[in-house]
Amino acid sequence: MLKGMIFDVARAAMDDGPGVRTTIFLKGCPLRCPWCHNPESQRFSRESARDKYGKPVVYGQELTPQEILAIAERDRSFYRLSGGGVTFSGGEPLAQAAFLAESCRLCHEAGLHVCVDTSGFASEEAVHAVMPYVDLFLLDYKQTGEERHERDVGVPLSPVLDTLALLRREGKRVWLRCPIVPGYQDRPEHFRAIAALEREYPCIERVELMFFHTLGRHKYAQLRRRDPTADLTPFTEEEKEAFWRRLNDDEAQMGIDISERI
Ligand code: SF4
Repeated sequence: MLKGMIFDVARAAMDDGPGVRTTIFLKGCPLRCPWCHNPESQRFSRESARDKYGKPVVYGQELTPQEILAIAERDRSFYRLSGGGVTFSGGEPLAQAAFLAESCRLCHEAGLHVCVDTSGFASEEAVHAVMPYVDLFLLDYKQTGEERHERDVGVPLSPVLDTLALLRREGKRVWLRCPIVPGYQDRPEHFRAIAALEREYPCIERVELMFFHTLGRHKYAQLRRRDPTADLTPFTEEEKEAFWRRLNDDEAQMGIDISERI
């Protein structure tokens, strides 16, 4: 029987696509972003940890696509009122392509709005398998430059851009999600590259800057792993506004009508 490895389910999620959503988090990821706030998502197998009170916690539960649909159905009335639906996130959901495709298919055929939140680091076959059942892709753009990308997150950038090109070719909708982490992406050429992507890929409807935060810090301690961002401090509100201004300026210089995109 087809099953997927899930490490969490979030009901009433507000930041994983339009409206109120149920987010299903698939376990396992080929990337190793140092700023990852879900370190329990990275390994593909089930793992044990201890919470801050010393109680055992297990990350990882096998579920069937039918069980995923039943979970998603519980909040159908909220989706209808808010324009929401179900989002598959991770980890990297496309790393469990067969399970993801079947779960997306069931949700789509049940009339639910389906988002997939992906790093874009996936085979063309995996993207093709899920594409017919996905209304919106939330695609991460993590770093500019092949060398920096591979150094920072452990995989090359070109497959991510291939995924974006494939989504453009197939007329799929994309929201580009861009982590901004001190010392990693906070440089002018990265913002220019985001604006250039918006110009080059009309499938990008919206850009989200995902600023570094420390909400996942305790999980590294739970898992007894070193937190790679232990020395980093989140940006201030003024700094965040300055990054948005910089992106808007770059977009304006490239002739992008941002009012239609954000
Ligand atoms: S792609 Fe996402 S889940 Fe994977 S390591 Fe990066 S931040 Fe974590």
